[in-house]
Amino acid sequence: MITRITGGKIVTASSEIYADLWIKDEQILKIGEADFIADMVIDATGKYIMPGGIDPHVHMHLPTPAGFSSDDFRSGSIAGLHGGTTTLIDFVTPEHGQSLIDALDKRKNEAVNSLVDYTFHVSPIEWTENTASEIEACMKAGITSFKVYMAYKKAVGLEDDALYNVLKTVGELGGMVTVHAEMGDEIDLLRDEFAAKGILSPTAHPQTRPNYTEGDAVKKVIEMAAENNCPLYIVHVSTAEAMSHIQLAQKNGQKVWAETCPHYLVLDDSVYEGEFADTAKYVLSPPLRKHKDSEALWQSLKSESVQTVGTDHCPFTLEQKRAGEHDFRKIPNGAGGVEHRIALLYTYGVLEGKITLSQMVNMMATAPAKIFGLDKKGDLREGLDADILIWDPNTEQEISVATHHQNTDLNIYEGINTKGATAHVFVKGQEVIRYGELIEKPKGEFIERY
Ligand SMILES: [Zn+2]
Repeated sequence: MITRITGGKIVTASSEIYADLWIKDEQILKIGEADFIADMVIDATGKYIMPGGIDPHVHMHLPTPAGFSSDDFRSGSIAGLHGGTTTLIDFVTPEHGQSLIDALDKRKNEAVNSLVDYTFHVSPIEWTENTASEIEACMKAGITSFKVYMAYKKAVGLEDDALYNVLKTVGELGGMVTVHAEMGDEIDLLRDEFAAKGILSPTAHPQTRPNYTEGDAVKKVIEMAAENNCPLYIVHVSTAEAMSHIQLAQKNGQKVWAETCPHYLVLDDSVYEGEFADTAKYVLSPPLRKHKDSEALWQSLKSESVQTVGTDHCPFTLEQKRAGEHDFRKIPNGAGGVEHRIALLYTYGVLEGKITLSQMVNMMATAPAKIFGLDKKGDLREGLDADILIWDPNTEQEISVATHHQNTDLNIYEGINTKGATAHVFVKGQEVIRYGELIEKPKGEFIERY
């Protein structure tokens, strides 16, 4: 089966050119003039042809005390496809006492209903005499990145000595540590102080996670990673303070990468004032910040000191959020976004002149592929998987729960207008989305990374 995509502008992280793109079966056959006989021709006149999005940070079917996050791998991958995302990186979070490799096997079973290819960051949540060998076994099973939490210490967070051991072990084995950097103990103290004063609404959420609790954690983990010579990727960076620590480390030549999320770029902390039903959906961590933080993040994307944009997609329903109606500490943290990442970056980044189109492609696909070793994805070149997004810049829409595909009755971007939309999405050579319709249901596969 040969498909020819013709008439459009091919946009990669390094160039914009008008050329034909040819697909044979699952792979990109050629870019440029050729005389293959096409079984299907897609007219992409007036559109951009880009690599399918890679979202490096999603939580499908995540267990919490308020139930599972409301998208599973099937509904979440469908939502992602509608927004142009064709690869997901999710997480493996073991139970206490469970081995990492057992947890990885179980997670692979939960992901079999994904329509797109996927891989995982594996989370050591404790340090036992077996953890080093379990990390090594995960690396032999195709995992190269390990996620640690400095917050949520009562559930999955690590104490400093365990964090140190993970950085040392992963560094020695040639892997990478990704980190949720917030000072967990300080935050727990602030949360309990606010609760003791009777401040129990979502208003307390940002106030109990002030900017310095992220900045201090980022500084600390950068130092620990340097000491252990471990490559470090800092997830969901939200503050100007954190960025200054990251930029200093990068200037010093340390292997430190940073990710931010669309919600830190287009929303701010004014949303936490109001009734529970209107504010609980914004309870996600780190919290939304001030306008000056968003500006610092856009600047960091432009200067490429932030390399990737992930969504931290972790939706809940309002009913699930109501678990914390009388105590913000019980509200499940997270919000959906996998469907909106590219449209938000395009509208509020590219069209406002904050980033270039090629930079957008880099942060939403090419950089995640390079950083996390997805060798067959993230670019448009001969021999790579034909995961392709054809973007129509000439459409407009308003984000709403009434029209989104995420499995939740909440949307933190409700009412926001975006320009541009997916016209066609190809997953390994198969057209899966055509003008807003899901026309095929491919079967995603686990990607081994070495
Ligand atoms: Zn997350």
